[in-house]
Amino acid sequence: MTQVRHDRPTWPGRIPRHKIAELYKKEALGICDEVLIDDVGIGLLVRIEHIFRARKANSGLASCPFCRREIPHDFDPAFLLRCQACNWELVWAEYQKSFQGKHLIASGMTAFLEEYVEKYRVARSPQEKLILIDTLIHRYHWELEGGLTGPGARDLIAGKTSEVIDFLNQLSYGSRSSPEILSTRQEWLDKVRKSRERHASAVEERELKAAKKRQKAEDKKRRSILKAEARQAGRAKRSNSERSNAGEVHDGT
Ligand SMILES: [Zn+2]
Repeated sequence: MTQVRHDRPTWPGRIPRHKIAELYKKEALGICDEVLIDDVGIGLLVRIEHIFRARKANSGLASCPFCRREIPHDFDPAFLLRCQACNWELVWAEYQKSFQGKHLIASGMTAFLEEYVEKYRVARSPQEKLILIDTLIHRYHWELEGGLTGPGARDLIAGKTSEVIDFLNQLSYGSRSSPEILSTRQEWLDKVRKSRERHASAVEERELKAAKKRQKAEDKKRRSILKAEARQAGRAKRSNSERSNAGEVHDGT
């Protein structure tokens, strides 16, 4: 009997920034590089397929890394995922570790990812494909719900969130860039600005709250000092008057 395999599933990484940069440089010069467009476009399709697979695993349905057969689990770290056909098994904790921290959950991006997959599969011209890529990488998480929590590209393009934003801000555009791409560019800049403003006002609100809290604590401290002083003054007054009353009694005798 062959030995049981315990391979961890592997997940494709995000698209390297240099490929995207090249894509926009060429587009700005009016050069259509179909191979590069397909390379990036299909890379995104594969990445999205794995995002959906990781999400499914995270909600109770893992899959065999060899035949892709779905295997239900109960989230117990020791749960043994097993595919008899491929002679493979792995505990859920190990399986989960294989995709954690790899930007594979992409919450708030579902509609955009699905839209991309659906349209890219039937897109014919390179220009059509490029516009789909361009639209997808300029989305924001929870954009549909009115939130702008972070760029969707952080799950699709390699780099830290701030690096990805700077990178997208600096892509090449020119008079040969298509109007759709130029309009997405403008929308993107507006989203970045709005998101930054919201972040700044949230920070301001937090700082204001903290300042109010500090002020309240100081007021409380001051009040308790004043109370203590008043009590002390009251005691001193009482003992003075007691002393003088005792004197009067004494004097009267
Ligand atoms: Zn299998």
